[in-house]
Amino acid sequence: MFQKILIANRGEIALRIQRACRELGIGTVAVHSTADAEAMHVRLADESVCIGPPAAKDSYLNIPAILSAASITGADAIHPGYGFLSENARFAEMVEAHGLTFIGPSSAHIRMMGDKIAAKTAMGGLGVPLVPGSDGAVPDLATARTVAARIGYPVLIKAAAGGGGRGMKVARAPDELDEAFGTARAESRAAFGNDAVYMEKYLDRPRHVEFQVMADQHGAVVHFGERDCSLQRRHQKLVEEAGSPALDAAGRERMGETVTAALAQLGYRNAGTLEFLYQDGQFAFIEMNTRLQVEHPVTEMVCGIDLVREQIRIAEGEALGYGQSDVRFSGHAIECRITAEHPETFVPSPGRVTAFHAPGGLGVRVDSALYAGYQVPPYYDSLVAKLIVHAPDRPAAIARLARALEEFAVLGIETTLPLHRRIVEAPEFQAGDYTIHWLERFVAGGEP
Ligand code: ADP
Repeated sequence: MFQKILIANRGEIALRIQRACRELGIGTVAVHSTADAEAMHVRLADESVCIGPPAAKDSYLNIPAILSAASITGADAIHPGYGFLSENARFAEMVEAHGLTFIGPSSAHIRMMGDKIAAKTAMGGLGVPLVPGSDGAVPDLATARTVAARIGYPVLIKAAAGGGGRGMKVARAPDELDEAFGTARAESRAAFGNDAVYMEKYLDRPRHVEFQVMADQHGAVVHFGERDCSLQRRHQKLVEEAGSPALDAAGRERMGETVTAALAQLGYRNAGTLEFLYQDGQFAFIEMNTRLQVEHPVTEMVCGIDLVREQIRIAEGEALGYGQSDVRFSGHAIECRITAEHPETFVPSPGRVTAFHAPGGLGVRVDSALYAGYQVPPYYDSLVAKLIVHAPDRPAAIARLARALEEFAVLGIETTLPLHRRIVEAPEFQAGDYTIHWLERFVAGGEP
């Protein structure tokens, strides 16, 4: 049993993990940059350690400082949250080398899935359906032309080390391939220090549907159903739902079985998410995330489970203690990601929050580290709150979301709350009739 967990993160996710620790009777250590000395995750932790100046590379990505903080405070384990070091295989190895437990999968699996080409090869080999594309990396333009001719335009050039939608370029016709290929390579070199790219057929109207999986160290694997994350801007998720409006129980069960069988064969452990594009009733794997996801609360609401608690129990070596037939799905949940950005221009809006009023009532959950008087720093991700609603069915969840968004007030900074209020009123959203391309056009004010 862990006595103390160091949480190597900030903001709402650091608080989220603290809450699970507290309920399990485990002590918490917060780490923070000098810019975050007054942050809620620091105020609510049992102990805190300053690990460096504001820039993430000097603090939240500063491995020696984080390991020193764990050693000074006598922590037994480190939870990385999402982002920052959560998918850094080297970090997971160093944590273990220091005699601590990394709350997550093995470093070998983190490394494998961090290389999106290796991830596709592995999953394809385990019987998971893939998006048609290149067989591995595409080293030059001549190969790109051959692949494009085989799979047909439009094609997507993607970074092998990709993440956050960067290093991804579409070529709709042969005359666009040269530029798309060059730009994708340059972008991925700049963002990830690695210019390996691969190619996929660019799907024209897919939904993004992903499966949440949890595996223990004794070979048991269960899935907690799917999330629909099709509402995206610049390949970044804005609104997520569980379950998907496009999937029924039989479809969920079928794909769930494929996914759990693959991960059991892989010997995977802890939490993971397999991401798919779903079009014309077909699933096609795009990538796997080897960590807790931002959108995990919608799954928690429909399954009545605490995913962070499960991650901690599994890392302690406990067995899951239940099987797939024990996982029940109840009702519908929707999450809005609220960022400190202008709701139309998306220009970041850090600054002092002068008033903060979170909605409440039945079936409403707010995961946020904001408070009145808090100064949102300009150095980090702009996500400041997640509003999650749960109701017996999708129409009731939408009604609840609309009223919760009306109640929500954040003053002093710009937020995307007004955009979420518009989305919830849109007929396409209400009908559940949208693909990954819908929101982009809706935001731009064009015809959806
Ligand atoms: P990242 O790791 O950068 O987030 P992903 O591979 O997860 O990249 O893709 C992010 C998003 O980009 C997907 O959710 C989807 O909206 C879009 N996308 C990815 N691959 C394709 C594809 N082959 N066709 C159409 N859209 C795609």
